[in-house]
Amino acid sequence: MKIGLMGGGQLGLMMIEAAHKIGLSVTVFADNRSCPAFRICDDFIESSFTDLDALSKFREQCEVFTVETENIPISALKYISEKKTVCPNGEAIRITQNRINEKEFANSLTIPTVPFIEITTSNIRNIDSYFFPGILKTARFGYDGKGQVHVGEKNELLNIVKDLTNSKYILEKKVPLDTELSIIIVRDKDGNIASYPLAENRHENGILVESVMPANVSVDVHKLAFTYGERIVKKLDYVGVLTVEFFLSDGNLLLNEMAPRPHNSGHQTINASVTSQFEQQARICAGLPIGDTTLKYDVRLENVLGDLWFSNNNCQPREPNWEKLTGGVKILKLYGKGEPRLGRKMGHLITLVRER
Ligand code: ADP
Ligand code: MG
Repeated sequence: MKIGLMGGGQLGLMMIEAAHKIGLSVTVFADNRSCPAFRICDDFIESSFTDLDALSKFREQCEVFTVETENIPISALKYISEKKTVCPNGEAIRITQNRINEKEFANSLTIPTVPFIEITTSNIRNIDSYFFPGILKTARFGYDGKGQVHVGEKNELLNIVKDLTNSKYILEKKVPLDTELSIIIVRDKDGNIASYPLAENRHENGILVESVMPANVSVDVHKLAFTYGERIVKKLDYVGVLTVEFFLSDGNLLLNEMAPRPHNSGHQTINASVTSQFEQQARICAGLPIGDTTLKYDVRLENVLGDLWFSNNNCQPREPNWEKLTGGVKILKLYGKGEPRLGRKMGHLITLVRER
């Protein structure tokens, strides 16, 4: 079976590795050959998601389709789903593309979020002080803390938001964080559901730097995260891997965001679980049963950021000092990105902490 994968980043790379492991092949559709997935995919279509000729060729070539990023235009997803299955479905992906939709959707399922408000031309001068200090975010396309500004009080907003015609913005109240958590839920086409243990995530400057699995939180929090995840996948008739990120704030579990795909906080599952998050995505696409999600090790992930190549100066990158790798206990994965940049995810390190 051939899977059509939209997007070519590191998540795509690892999804292809998992698909190959179980004998499936993958055609990647992406706009640029210098992406991690290009090197190992079985076929590559280089074009834009608005190119109907290329999309048509792609649609004919593969039996089933999936995404490695939520930022695939809905028009392309619709076009493909006219003839073939896309997992997860376009509506699920549409919701996760926009922070406002995502949070409204969560609240409609009585899943709490931070207090938030969409900024519009009519309300921008009269935002309730309750939302300050807050974090102003672009509703779409933000990642690794990009597209976010901390706003102390009302007047700052007017200085920052200059143009409301082309972009949508959300203002979120800044909440105290006990910790951050994420759960990876898997649902197959027959409605069977499984999940990995909750991961506990540490961010610096909005970028995930470390994730441990399982999270060191109460059984009640683990159960509640699963209950919320289950509620979401059922409501969306979701088929595939879904990640839900949470804040634990003053003991309350709040949904932060969702990703309709495997997630950085789940890379541990490659080395520590019976079946990895990526293999689950490939299996579900191929109509195979969900794999065993048992965690064999307590495990820690550290991201390898481009900053490591610039540790002595900020101008010329050079091969990093790999002192973190000494001792032989860490598993290194590099994504094969051509150029290190500050804040860019270049790879990750896994430590198997303890056998369970
Ligand atoms: P991204 O899409 O860039 O991951 P997030 O909304 O997850 O965006 O924000 C990145 C990080 O910033 C979060 O993981 C958290 O550490 C911090 N953060 C974001 N929103 C809030 C908030 N409302 N209150 C407190 N911290 C926040
Ligand atoms: Mg996030």
